[in-house]
Amino acid sequence: MFTATLTQIQQATPSVKLFKLKVEDPAFHFLAGQWIDLKIELDGAPHLGGYSMTSSPVVHGAIELAIKSSTRHPVTRWLHEQARIGDTVQISGGQGVFVYQPEMSQRIVLVGAGVGVTPLISIFRYVADAVPGTDATLVYSIPSPDEFLFRDEIERLSLQFNNLHSLVSVTQPDAHWHGLSGRTDAALLQRAGMSSDTLYYLCGPQGMVEDVSAMLASLGVPASRIIYEKWW
Ligand SMILES: Cc1cc2nc3c(=O)[nH]c(=O)nc-3n(C[C@H](O)[C@H](O)[C@H](O)COP(=O)(O)OP(=O)(O)OC[C@H]3O[C@@H](n4cnc5c(N)ncnc54)[C@H](O)[C@@H]3O)c2cc1C
Repeated sequence: MFTATLTQIQQATPSVKLFKLKVEDPAFHFLAGQWIDLKIELDGAPHLGGYSMTSSPVVHGAIELAIKSSTRHPVTRWLHEQARIGDTVQISGGQGVFVYQPEMSQRIVLVGAGVGVTPLISIFRYVADAVPGTDATLVYSIPSPDEFLFRDEIERLSLQFNNLHSLVSVTQPDAHWHGLSGRTDAALLQRAGMSSDTLYYLCGPQGMVEDVSAMLASLGVPASRIIYEKWW
């Protein structure tokens, strides 16, 4: 485990807080899309939570997490209700096979919903930082416009880089939302691009990953080109 110090806590949406942690040990590293175990002690007993990095692995010495509030999960609850700047926690190195590395494909579609966008943002930022030869499309579904995580950055990167695109849809739009509405469907996935070398990364709530996998299968995408992460 590595020692990490909280350096920033920010309410990003009504349900999600962003956490920035300083990790000074140079042995710490992760790949775009990976998660860490975060350990705290409560009343002398250790508790663990798993969280995906939202930052790009190109950034050294610090990581960023985006965490949805939960009153049930002890670590998530502590982070939302008690954690303060300067607190230290223990974290593992990057874990999991939900990763993107340039040699895997030069065409990726990142399909996320809600806070499940977190590992996809790490991949999107990584492509912006270091992989100009890869074309990445983020397909991101949110319940309402105020739950649009990383809105400014996603919009800015999609305008700034020819190889980055985003299709954001809101399931319960309000009068101020002029973008796409509804759940991610086959038409939206087709719009994201269906070339024969595309890799699809799926992360979202239970049901969404199954639904999107089934849609991709019906569009002729083989299972070998679908990579998914489940948090339950
Ligand atoms: C590998 C891994 C990575 C994780 N990364 C994050 C993270 O980056 N940010 C974060 O807030 N939590 C993340 N979690 C979940 C976190 O560790 C806790 O499980 C969660 O805070 C518990 O909340 P809950 O009991 O209210 O979950 P519930 O509301 O009961 O949800 C059940 C499970 O589904 C997951 N879930 C709910 N909504 C979504 C969604 N939109 N997309 C994907 N999964 C969803 C929950 O996190 C939980 O694990 C991750 C879990 C794992 C295993």
